[in-house]
Amino acid sequence: MSERYDIIIVGSGPAGVSAAINGVIRNKKVKVFGSKHLSDKLEKAPRVDNYLGYHAVSGPELKDVFVEHLNQMNIDITEEKVDAVYAMGEYFAVTTKDNTYEADSVIVASGVSNKKSLPGEEAYLGKGVGYCATCDAPIYKNKKVAIVAYHKHAEEEANYMLDVASEVYYVPVYGQPEKIREGVKVIAGKPKQILGSEHAEKLVLSDGEILADGIFILKDSVALDQLVPGVDILENHFNVNRNMETNIPGLYAAGDCTGKPYQYLKAAGEGQVAALNAVSYLDKR
Ligand code: FAD
Repeated sequence: MSERYDIIIVGSGPAGVSAAINGVIRNKKVKVFGSKHLSDKLEKAPRVDNYLGYHAVSGPELKDVFVEHLNQMNIDITEEKVDAVYAMGEYFAVTTKDNTYEADSVIVASGVSNKKSLPGEEAYLGKGVGYCATCDAPIYKNKKVAIVAYHKHAEEEANYMLDVASEVYYVPVYGQPEKIREGVKVIAGKPKQILGSEHAEKLVLSDGEILADGIFILKDSVALDQLVPGVDILENHFNVNRNMETNIPGLYAAGDCTGKPYQYLKAAGEGQVAALNAVSYLDKR
């Protein structure tokens, strides 16, 4: 039987980190999924002037302070991408490529993706276009698959797909891949659009095209309603109340994924509210 956590936190940006710190302070058994670098949005900010207590700090400097805080509290981050959070009634099942974790409550702090959809992406979604290569792998046994990767996490999915598909084309939009298996065909060029008829048939690039039976668009975040089946979404964000509660008891959301303004302090504040309400929820059970 798998270990049961009090609170699983999906996301390691300011919202997830703040939620984790508050959960641990309240003596809850917390597990955080994300990145040891915390968030691209922290790493990429050249200068931050509006984080309380800091002036003219860079995003990476702010990240270092957050990492130090986590280290001081022995909070570790599990570098696995969460594919889905399933409400099972009495508990939640949180799935990653290789594992399933259980928790009594979940806080989703997954941020928002600012990657625009490719032309054709939404039209062919479910018709040859997908967002989770490992989930759909059996459909593409001995077929050709193209993977558009916006994040290095996607390398694992491409490597896995190589065992299933006849050919795997990998288009790393984020730069040079680090751990890609021999046999995966790494293709340079910017993805431009997806074309097909009834079904997606090809990925058009800035300098060429790839004919494929399946095209996966792997972003650093998963569409919210795909991440949590059955959750209420309002204008592309989790529909939460002031307690950061969603429509699913025990499931909370915090940070950019609940709506604007997209700001560090708002994210950190919501992470705290979500954690404290998750604690009350757990204590009442
Ligand atoms: P994020 O910081 O986006 O973190 C989400 C984390 O969750 C990421 O690590 C992501 O990889 C992880 N994640 C997502 N899905 C999954 C999954 N399925 N499984 C595991 N992990 C997952 N705000 C300010 O207040 N002041 C500023 O000066 C400022 N400057 C900015 C400059 C830039 C260049 C950018 C891009 C943003 C800036 N922002 C600024 C906005 C700020 O970065 C965001 O509002 C803030 O990072 C939101 O925090 P978050 O925790 O909600 O999400």
